[in-house]
Amino acid sequence: EIRQIAIYGKGGIGKSTTTQNLTAALAESGKKVMVVGCDPKADSTRLLLGVLAQRTVLDTLRDTGEDVELSNILSIGFGGIKCVESGGPEPGVGCAGRGIITSVGLLEQLGAYTEDLDYVFYDVLGDVVCGGFAMPIREGKAQEIYIVASGEMMALYAANNIAKGIARFARKGGVRLGGIICNSRNVDREIELLRAFCAELGTQLIHFVPRDNVVQRAEINRKTVIEYAPDSKQADEYRSLAKAIDENTYFTIPKPMSHERLEEILLEYGLMDSIKDNYAI
Ligand code: ATP
Ligand code: MG
Repeated sequence: EIRQIAIYGKGGIGKSTTTQNLTAALAESGKKVMVVGCDPKADSTRLLLGVLAQRTVLDTLRDTGEDVELSNILSIGFGGIKCVESGGPEPGVGCAGRGIITSVGLLEQLGAYTEDLDYVFYDVLGDVVCGGFAMPIREGKAQEIYIVASGEMMALYAANNIAKGIARFARKGGVRLGGIICNSRNVDREIELLRAFCAELGTQLIHFVPRDNVVQRAEINRKTVIEYAPDSKQADEYRSLAKAIDENTYFTIPKPMSHERLEEILLEYGLMDSIKDNYAI
């Protein structure tokens, strides 16, 4: 059975970077992995492939018509990882979800979901606004979700909103939340805040990934940290995250919290000190 996992989180939080580093770590440990980028930016696989941007499925269909072969839309990256970029419409035009439906359908038709795969990861664009958001879940593809967040207020708001979406789908089907990945922003008491947030949400903090400039250095060289600096501490962090996901057995239907409750938690951990001061006036 292939584990199909979707990665969600606020825009710019580190979904693509984290997905590629953790899948590189899984591949390094012998797992067979496919990564499907579900973002019109098509930057979900570039660190695995060492290219600026892979040609997207939608672009390929547009240019060559329906007569497409798997090798036209799927490239092999670091550690043998199968890499696909679904692509999408120009920003502000049309629904990004369509690219994902088209791509997943085509991948199935062309036999990309082979028996030997251990994992398929979907790197999904951040916001819940467009219907495209839920596509990997709605299509019955991803049954396991991780949310990337940090101790910053907006990242937690977004994570809570995403949890609402997951809870809605979970009631109808088998989709479950596997945990929150903290991609640190070096916020004070970040790990405690994330633990409290996870407890309230009824999930776990699956791993705390530190902020480290080696991530950017690797990125400039179009590589994951696993490939660029395999002996670094940060590479080991991604290996720990990969191991935690590989061994995870704790899957839940999240219990999203009210705005009021979220703000209480933020206040408790000092995140909203400035707001509190304002109220005190
Ligand atoms: P989008 O929503 O636009 O797709 P994203 O959530 O996929 O964004 P990324 O593109 O992965 O976010 O990351 C944004 C930036 O943050 C990148 O330039 C990346 O190098 C940097 N970054 C991510 N994680 C870390 C980290 N742990 N330490 C340092 N820099 C990081
Ligand atoms: Mg991204």
